[in-house]
Amino acid sequence: MDLTRRELLTAFLGAPFAFAACRTGETRAFPDGEIVGQSATLGHVLRENRSFEVPADKWESKKIAIIGGGIAGLTTAWKLKKDNFSDFVLLELEKEIGGTSQSGRGEPVGYPWGAHYLPVPFRENTELVSLLDEMSLLESRDANGEIIVKEQFLCREPEERVFYKGRWYEGLYLGVGASEEDKRQFSEFQKQVDQWVNWRDASGKRAFVVPLANCSTDAEATSLDKISFAEWLRQNGFTSERLLWYCDYACRDDYGLRLEQTSAWVGLFYFCSRVRKSGVESQPFITCPEGNGQFVSHFFEEVKDNVRKSQIVVSVVPTETGVDVLCLDGGELRGIHCERVIFASPMFTAPYIIRGFREDTPFAASEFQHNAWFVANLFLKDRPKPRFAKDFPLAWDNVLYESPSLGYVTATHQKGIDYGPTILTYYYPMCAEENGRTKLFNYEWRDLADVCLADLARAHPDIYDLTTRIDIMRWGHAMISPRPNFIWSGIRENAIKPYRNIHFAHTDLSGIALFEEAFYHGLRAASEVIGR
Ligand SMILES: Cc1cc2nc3c(=O)[nH]c(=O)nc-3n(C[C@H](O)[C@H](O)[C@H](O)COP(=O)(O)OP(=O)(O)OC[C@H]3O[C@@H](n4cnc5c(N)ncnc54)[C@H](O)[C@@H]3O)c2cc1C
Repeated sequence: MDLTRRELLTAFLGAPFAFAACRTGETRAFPDGEIVGQSATLGHVLRENRSFEVPADKWESKKIAIIGGGIAGLTTAWKLKKDNFSDFVLLELEKEIGGTSQSGRGEPVGYPWGAHYLPVPFRENTELVSLLDEMSLLESRDANGEIIVKEQFLCREPEERVFYKGRWYEGLYLGVGASEEDKRQFSEFQKQVDQWVNWRDASGKRAFVVPLANCSTDAEATSLDKISFAEWLRQNGFTSERLLWYCDYACRDDYGLRLEQTSAWVGLFYFCSRVRKSGVESQPFITCPEGNGQFVSHFFEEVKDNVRKSQIVVSVVPTETGVDVLCLDGGELRGIHCERVIFASPMFTAPYIIRGFREDTPFAASEFQHNAWFVANLFLKDRPKPRFAKDFPLAWDNVLYESPSLGYVTATHQKGIDYGPTILTYYYPMCAEENGRTKLFNYEWRDLADVCLADLARAHPDIYDLTTRIDIMRWGHAMISPRPNFIWSGIRENAIKPYRNIHFAHTDLSGIALFEEAFYHGLRAASEVIGR
């Protein structure tokens, strides 16, 4: 895109910041790097609207084909294998498996390209607990039967810090300089969260719990979905700037949306669903350098004989006896006759891929709207130097209060490697944008790397000298958007039902992009097809 640097920084980081950043006109050393991942081939092939003829000798038969090798598809494959069912194939479009939970390998450690943590599940989430057990992440159980995860897998202290007006502070809520009124509102907000944590419907169900399928459907709770989180905060008299920032950050971080764009129900879900009872801490995070890539690697090890990468599924055709799956393997078109298909790729792609979908329209696929993100991995030869001796030290999650980005996570943190080279993963949700996706794909590597370095330089002026390389991934359809009137509108319930012999499994079906939700739908789809 032909923009001046000032226009570029204004578009991503705001006019006052861009003005200040461009004032000196200084030229700085710029690292190498490239745009990685996310093939655009599928979009191109589908837009061409080609008719596909598979040569007679390019057909094979499988009982089940799984389309998509993200957490949902991998979970289905893992479950089928556990149940001694092997007559299936998993087809993944990209060269790498894992979808939005994929990771990279590097020195001194691996690093995430998307999902980077999983909160410790409650004991009731038995299938997820058994996955953690299988991966040897569990230490024991406490007196109440809650699982205790081995310390080396739980996010190490310091977990979070926030940068504000030149200094780093502990935690995410900006406590420093808070007025009495700020403190009162923060405590009132916590009280309201506690009330929802303790709330139960007539059948004893919680309002907010993971997976979302176990949440109460009582209107007292679900009616929160009809308004935005911003509106709910207004209605409850919350005006404190730092409280609103804290809630807005939560929405950007988990949903890629602003406060005004997010349903109040999912806003409260963020704060309540991982808290066992009022007064106790939210569940701790399981993480490792490559983030949720550790789960992808585990699943892949278990099912790799059934996985085919770089396979673009271009058409899924319901037939009299089952379903035919057509995919491009390199330039070659192949066909698979299947009894059933697990559709574990994003829901909005269904009308483009499933033949007859538009005529028969089993659900409103266009209601599954996604937002765009970009993620940058910065390879540093050394740690940024603290500017003040009393600055709160480098943490796992490092957030910039005055930036629309989410800051960065430190890949070496969990391994206790506190000196020397490291990798920082920088996250930028394009939530301010109506057309964030188009905008994102109009920018080149150099533009996005410039945004990332300029943003981080507000906290780390030495970032230009320390960074040897920046690689960037543009996620066009990163996450489903849980805007008001989506989660409890009935759209999801319709889409969860199988269509002919096609069973849907993507995390989109929860309306929230989380590991646990993809895992839940992967298991559900597996039991639908094998009846266990
Ligand atoms: C930047 C970012 C950060 C995140 N952070 C976290 C986090 O910290 N914790 C957390 O729990 N969640 C996080 N999430 C969400 C989490 O990654 C997802 O909820 C989960 O991994 C989704 O898994 P999935 O299998 O449902 O979908 P996806 O990850 O979308 O996988 C779908 C797969 O289908 C493939 N596919 C699509 N079309 C086709 C086709 N035609 N043929 C073949 N294959 C196809 C895709 O290539 C992809 O691999 C994050 C997401 C993003 C984008």
